[in-house]
Amino acid sequence: MNKQDIDSIKQLLSAPKKIVIVPHKNPDGDAIGSTLGLYHYLLKGDHQAQVLTPNDYPGFLKWMPGENTILKHDSQTKACEDLVNDADIIFTLDFNAFHRTGNMETVLSESKALKIMIDHHQAPDDYATYMFSDVSMSSTCEMIYHFIDMLNDLDLIDANIATCLYAGIMTDTGSFRFLSTTSTTHRIVADLIEKGANNAQIHNNVYDTNSYNRLQLLGCALNNLKVIPESRAAYITLSQDELNTYNFTKGDTEGVVNYGLSLEGVVLAAIFIEDKQEGIIKISLRSKGNFSVNEMSRAHFNGGGHTNAAGGKSYSSLKKTVEKFISILPAYNNALNDV
Ligand code: 5GP
Ligand code: MN
Repeated sequence: MNKQDIDSIKQLLSAPKKIVIVPHKNPDGDAIGSTLGLYHYLLKGDHQAQVLTPNDYPGFLKWMPGENTILKHDSQTKACEDLVNDADIIFTLDFNAFHRTGNMETVLSESKALKIMIDHHQAPDDYATYMFSDVSMSSTCEMIYHFIDMLNDLDLIDANIATCLYAGIMTDTGSFRFLSTTSTTHRIVADLIEKGANNAQIHNNVYDTNSYNRLQLLGCALNNLKVIPESRAAYITLSQDELNTYNFTKGDTEGVVNYGLSLEGVVLAAIFIEDKQEGIIKISLRSKGNFSVNEMSRAHFNGGGHTNAAGGKSYSSLKKTVEKFISILPAYNNALNDV
């Protein structure tokens, strides 16, 4: 995004507009934090702004300021599609290809509204008039901070905006520990705390609200953990029956894949989660160093993401999907032993 783009966006936003803000399907903390952070910022410019998510999101995100205004496309389809069709501007945040919005793909790709992409994933599609795409960024929330900064509006960041952006940076950086966390990230979160983000409370809201069932499910996942030492890899499976046993709700498996990566010597971790309703196995991949799970997911699991965190899906059974994972590993052994 160059100076000319910023000037054009400034001009565009100088008069009230009808704006919708959309994150990817199964939105995570960064997706909800960035869309709501931008939402609060746009309200200050007297715009009509509305966050539309493709579907629901975990309970541990349902405390963010403005969260109760979000409309969900899967349950409020007509209202969402009317807003998209009527919008002057659509911000697409934390994704870079319309298919990542599931059933919103058609209405978004047919919309005539001007589109602005703000995102930190690899290989963006070419649908946006203005594109702020940077894979080196820790999170889309960090990019929203830079975006507001480029518009010379840091003074407008209040406690609501600061809280949403802090939450998304915290979740996407694994609480500031992933490689993507820079000194700039820390300067930004310091500023967000000064502007009213209550860091201890935000951490508590996201991480210290486990249900007993969720911890039991984690126990089940850890019991299922397998290690493949020659590939420095570990994987976890969760079948639909196991999920049902512990009354699984959305978000209960978030972060579980990281336990595999926490094993000494392991540089690649996977989790395979059966979803009988969608008829897929949802896959999450995590890695250390320069081993790209984005490439692995694109090549084998219909997905993508970042170098160290990617996701994908498989349409075969849980057993067959795990067998496929094990069968492709030897080709990566050199790379995995080089990390
Ligand atoms: P997670 O494993 O937490 O679902 O996702 C990790 C990262 O990979 C996230 O940045 C997410 O946006 C991306 N990702 C997850 N699933 C998919 C997918 O099916 N396709 C693509 N392209 N990216 C995905
Ligand atoms: Mn993100």
